[in-house]
Amino acid sequence: MESGKRSSLALLPLFLSFLFYFDFSKKLPSSDCSLLPHNHYWIASKYIVTPNGTVSGAVEIKEGRIISVVAEENWHVNSWFTTVVNYGESVVMPGFIDVHAHLDDPGRSEWEGFPSGTKAAAAGGVTTLVDMPLNSAPSTVSEETLKLKVQAAEGRVYVDVGFWGGLVPENAENASSLERLLNAGVLGLKSFMVPSGINDFPMTTASHIKEALPTLARYKRPLLVHAEVLLDLDGKMELEDGVENARSYSTYLKTRPASMEEAAINQLITLSKDTRAGGSAEGAHLHIVHLSDARTSLNLIKEAKQRGDSLTVETCPHYLAFAAEDIPDGDTRFKCAPPIRDAANKEKLWDALLDGDIDMLSSDHSPSVPEMKLLDEGDFLKAWGGISSLQFVLPATWTHGRKYGITFEQLASWWSEKPAKLAGLTTKGAIAVGNQADIVVWEPDMEFDLDNDYPVHIKHPSISAYMGSRLSGKVLETFIISAMSLLVVPLTFLETTTWHDI
Ligand SMILES: [Zn+2]
Repeated sequence: MESGKRSSLALLPLFLSFLFYFDFSKKLPSSDCSLLPHNHYWIASKYIVTPNGTVSGAVEIKEGRIISVVAEENWHVNSWFTTVVNYGESVVMPGFIDVHAHLDDPGRSEWEGFPSGTKAAAAGGVTTLVDMPLNSAPSTVSEETLKLKVQAAEGRVYVDVGFWGGLVPENAENASSLERLLNAGVLGLKSFMVPSGINDFPMTTASHIKEALPTLARYKRPLLVHAEVLLDLDGKMELEDGVENARSYSTYLKTRPASMEEAAINQLITLSKDTRAGGSAEGAHLHIVHLSDARTSLNLIKEAKQRGDSLTVETCPHYLAFAAEDIPDGDTRFKCAPPIRDAANKEKLWDALLDGDIDMLSSDHSPSVPEMKLLDEGDFLKAWGGISSLQFVLPATWTHGRKYGITFEQLASWWSEKPAKLAGLTTKGAIAVGNQADIVVWEPDMEFDLDNDYPVHIKHPSISAYMGSRLSGKVLETFIISAMSLLVVPLTFLETTTWHDI
């Protein structure tokens, strides 16, 4: 692309919303989105990433849907009469779908909130996100609390938003309350096998999960699991003696060894065998969130998948970008659970992702107020655990992944296609005829510094581990067809997902 085109693009607003102006404009949370008053247009590029490979050509969009994808040699459009947005050599991909974000609204909107969180998503090329049932207050564990979530989001979001419900002991032991939550439109459930750190979101044991699986099987919705369990750790004794330095990341790492993940996954795969074809929970699906241990835990998952269990796993960019050895003393921006492990483990995570053993990526964007990160004290044991990354997942994955030769098609698979399948979003996740025209346009070679001048939209940029770094892969535009959709899906409209397609 010639430099003149580049600079004119830089002047465009960061993201555009293609809406029917008169129908929806009044519902936008503010005037930051640009509205293109066209309902029929083409997006052209040398690099359009589709499920059938990357093509040079154009995508035709009408009334918010993709109606054709045409290779350059077959594309005959008179641009005098038709609206064409030509991106030259910039990459046109399906919008990212983040199935793991904590927007903390209602109740803890000072931590993030729907307006800032979804604006950051749009600026980063994420066109749909599924909000976690914690750390809002109350947690989303019932039909009533889901209503509060929807009310908090209504008219305050810049991208499409769906919701996971929480599986907690109270509803795990009460099938009718679980059914009411599923009927109310959550896309699936999430549970913790360790204390979550949130009082109204208690942990579930393997027996709670076992109890809930038949209900999930009937509804064909997934259960996402935070897979760590508490162990009696020798290392903890040392900490109690005050021998260890809480400002050292290695101290924190000792408190959450890989054996915690391994033990949880060992329990889970005794349950996931029921999800096989012909099993007592056929139709249910287990999804392990934010895997960090690429050694024994990953092998257990691989073996269970090979046996035919309905099981998938995600990891997050921070496990692929950072290594424990490099985390400076006291820099609690890097604290999360499970923890970031050593550099050799990071290499193995990349191998697993490239081999298809890890199915997809998510942000696990989990902010708090800066005070809770204890950045002055730098105490890794007391600081809030959670990495803020929602706006940076595309460049972070690309910057660190290009060393491993990742392709645009792989990015689209990890961040759009497979997340869409997990969440049952059948008209999203790919640039394909019939799908919603959620699209991100980005420049792979454009580098930028995440410094104080960079327009960051997450509520508390100072707590993000990515601030201060240089990334490549700049998002130019994000096309969102209906920046208002709350993906609360009544059961009757949910199309059946075949989990084994993931
Ligand atoms: Zn999380």
